[in-house]
Amino acid sequence: MSLLVQPRLVNVPSGDPGLYLDFQFGQRAMLFDLGDSAPLSPRELIRVSHAFISHAHMDHIAGFERLLRLRLHRPRPLVLLGPPGFVDLMQSRLGGYSWNLLDQTSVDFRLTAQAFDGAQIVEVAEFAARERFTRRDLAVPDLPRGGVCSEAEFEISAAALDHGIPSLAFAFRQRQRFNVWRSALDTLGLPVGPWIDEAKQALRDELPDDHMIAVPGMEPVPLGFLRAQVFETGPGQYFAYVSDAADTSANRARIIGLARGADQLYIEAPFLHADKAIAEATCHLTARAAGEIARIAGVRRVTPFHYSARYGDDVAELAKEVNAAFIDN
Ligand SMILES: [Zn+2]
Ligand SMILES: [Zn+2]
Repeated sequence: MSLLVQPRLVNVPSGDPGLYLDFQFGQRAMLFDLGDSAPLSPRELIRVSHAFISHAHMDHIAGFERLLRLRLHRPRPLVLLGPPGFVDLMQSRLGGYSWNLLDQTSVDFRLTAQAFDGAQIVEVAEFAARERFTRRDLAVPDLPRGGVCSEAEFEISAAALDHGIPSLAFAFRQRQRFNVWRSALDTLGLPVGPWIDEAKQALRDELPDDHMIAVPGMEPVPLGFLRAQVFETGPGQYFAYVSDAADTSANRARIIGLARGADQLYIEAPFLHADKAIAEATCHLTARAAGEIARIAGVRRVTPFHYSARYGDDVAELAKEVNAAFIDN
């Protein structure tokens, strides 16, 4: 089965938190959190269209500089979203450099910063290279409650958790899965290309079998033929990312609401239950709490990360504690 998005942790579980969402087709990627990005190649970072930031502790956003530097002379736009106050925060980060070498002849790179308050996007501003990253406020997008990004194939929603400060958790949901059989493409001599998205949209719109799809270098192909030979339909891909949250009943309810029935839950598990006092003092989950939440949310798989440095390389116990609580009962 081929997935629309291949999510993977950027770092080892004891490194900075972050999830890289690699899209199957279309040279595109997204990020949930942007800490140390060393394991990502420049090519991988250049593909990023959106970075969704849980909160502005350094381990979640220190990779912004490297991303900006790579993108500065390329026209592909970049969207960053974070918790309340995030637009001001990006403005001050961009204000920390001299941009006198940029002018109207520079590459038209634009960065959009958005702040989400737990229910909706409440603030949006654009920072254009040609305007030396001067802030320009824009209208907020019209999205359903909880939505932070909505496209034809998927939507991303968020919840605000309590981490002493607001910390956002995210869920990626594919609307409906139209998998492409790569072997069928090869057998039929059909090329990979943007026509696949067009065909998927036609399937989503439930157009008739005799609707013709234009394929470059070939005669148009009837949608019914593609439906039968090339695409497989099923429930969409669904995963959630939760980092940095206190173990409170309100947080648990929000995480469970966001991740209920997900294929996979990526969730922080920084401390052992034995070190619960440290978890409480720093507003983090314990490994046991992470496993319990995953179990109650009924997710299929749980992937813990954001292990505290206090355990060094000795992190097997953390994973074990998550799994024990996950499979309990
Ligand atoms: Zn934090
Ligand atoms: Zn953190």
